[in-house]
Amino acid sequence: MIFDFHVHCFPDALAPRAVAALTENARIISLKPLTDGTAAGTEKCLRSAGITGAHVLNIATNVRQTENVNRFAATLSTVSNGFFIPAGTVHPDCEDKERVIKALHDAGIRGIKVHPDYVRVNIDDPRYDEIFSLCEEAGMYVVTHAGFDPVSPDYFHAKPEGMLKVIRSHPRLTFVAAHMGGPSQLDGVLELLAGTNVYFDTSLISIREDERDKLKTLFHAHDPDRIFFGTDTPWSDPKAEIAIVESMDLTETAKEKIFYKNAARLLNL
Ligand SMILES: [Zn+2]
Repeated sequence: MIFDFHVHCFPDALAPRAVAALTENARIISLKPLTDGTAAGTEKCLRSAGITGAHVLNIATNVRQTENVNRFAATLSTVSNGFFIPAGTVHPDCEDKERVIKALHDAGIRGIKVHPDYVRVNIDDPRYDEIFSLCEEAGMYVVTHAGFDPVSPDYFHAKPEGMLKVIRSHPRLTFVAAHMGGPSQLDGVLELLAGTNVYFDTSLISIREDERDKLKTLFHAHDPDRIFFGTDTPWSDPKAEIAIVESMDLTETAKEKIFYKNAARLLNL
């Protein structure tokens, strides 16, 4: 069984525009989308790689979008017959964070995704801290983008030092740093985050040839109970993402946890 912890898809009417905008944003690293961005197209792509379910991570790039993004998230599980499990989102400038988080919780959504680079707010900013306190209190998890993103290539808003502060201030929060703690900052991840109670997802590592050795070290240095397999579809080929995790020198027990069991535990699959 393979569950994908990190995918992106959009409402049908918005999918072409969303995928085009994100492709333009990723131009400097020449990422090409592998799906049309719709839920149906995404499910088809993932199923063809043998993936049996997926966690959808959408964000709001401005406060006004939050409501729509979370409304789409709330319908996703039903329209996909349970194939997709959605996360919600909260914008750091939202004036009513408590209400938004309660509404997500009431809709059966168990966690949120944040993307500090898109909103140009550091992960250890007080506005995020408020969100993380509310999630910790409500028993909801947080997934953050971490490290390099082409939207802010010269400044990373989720650095290892900032994420370390977050997990220290919120010891009961399930805090997931995407992309094994972030592209182009693995030295800091190995030094500050490996072996801590942070969680990682593996998404997008198949394209990180230059970081292969550091990634291998990190897989060994971190608790396999705290790693989720993910692809970042449509930005990476799910088959290549599966192959790269398969190729890691890990026990079968550790791989079962990474590919399925950890997500099953967190998301009640
Ligand atoms: Zn992503």
